[in-house]
Amino acid sequence: MRLRVDPAKCQGYAICTEVAARHFTLDDWGYAQALVIDIDEADVPAVTEAIDECPVRAIRWIHGPPTGGAAPRPAPPAV
Ligand code: SF4
Repeated sequence: MRLRVDPAKCQGYAICTEVAARHFTLDDWGYAQALVIDIDEADVPAVTEAIDECPVRAIRWIHGPPTGGAAPRPAPPAV
């Protein structure tokens, strides 16, 4: 199973990082980022709970072959 966080939907409520801390983190803007995209069967319940608890439904399962990892977003520009 693979997961995807939709950056256009995420509002940074951070519920996913509390429910499944090993799978999600917040980026430098405060939005969720998947730490792992390819999810082991044993971790499916925790990620499913995060999907169910996200108030804006920004996380979903996607189908396809394993990707090998998540690509972190670049840091925001310095001000
Ligand atoms: S729970 Fe949903 S809205 Fe909140 S940080 Fe996670 S993905 Fe974003």
